[in-house]
Amino acid sequence: MIMTTISANLQAVLARITAAARKYGRNPDDIALLAVSKTWPASAVREAVAAGQRAFGENYVQEGIEKASDLASLGLEWHFIGPLQSNKTRRVAEVFDWVHSIDRLKIAERLAEQRPAALAPLQICLQVNVSGEASKSGVPMSEVPLLARQLASLPRLKLRGLMAIPAAFDDFVQQRQAFGLLHRIYQQLKQDGLTLDTLSMGMTHDLEAAISAGATMVRVGTAIFGQRWVETSG
Ligand SMILES: *Cc1c(COP(=O)(O)O)cnc(C)c1O
Repeated sequence: MIMTTISANLQAVLARITAAARKYGRNPDDIALLAVSKTWPASAVREAVAAGQRAFGENYVQEGIEKASDLASLGLEWHFIGPLQSNKTRRVAEVFDWVHSIDRLKIAERLAEQRPAALAPLQICLQVNVSGEASKSGVPMSEVPLLARQLASLPRLKLRGLMAIPAAFDDFVQQRQAFGLLHRIYQQLKQDGLTLDTLSMGMTHDLEAAISAGATMVRVGTAIFGQRWVETSG
């Protein structure tokens, strides 16, 4: 078998997930890997698919839709993880399987209205700001309980859990602290009766800390596809 760089990288990331799970008493099977393919071409996604990866994350609506359409015959799972404006919700509702970045009721209501009835419900996560002033995206922690209840009641959407992108720290203890906050709110929502199973947190440089704090899905780009030199927009 020829190991491409992407397939070797993917194996290395899976090994990191397994090692972290063992170290922190988690079952590796309880932690899904979302491969973040933003800025990379469909050919890179194909390489990851050949190596066994099925779930991909995209930040930009137009780019994500093009890739998902190019690769439609492969039956992959597409996750939208970037900021979403209301004028772009329709295409997202039509093409993606998941949206991790829900931080306003209005956006979720549009997605609920626009999700085609022929498709499975759109799987969503509520994005939480666990870093206060240091982050602009996500809902403040105090607003999470109310918004979560509202999201859980919308038709055509299925609230699966919470997502966060904490301020970047090099220090494991600080990384873990932010993820721990998200885990605590997640547990609280479940105690209050919401059925949730997804804690989307951890990226290339902090996935171990996220796993130690209970992540069920890590979103990894750089460690799989390489360093991104260009960030596209829109
Ligand atoms: C880009 C991105 C990732 C992946 O980050 P890496 O550091 O490349 O692993 C994960 N989540 C979100 C929301 C992103 O925008």
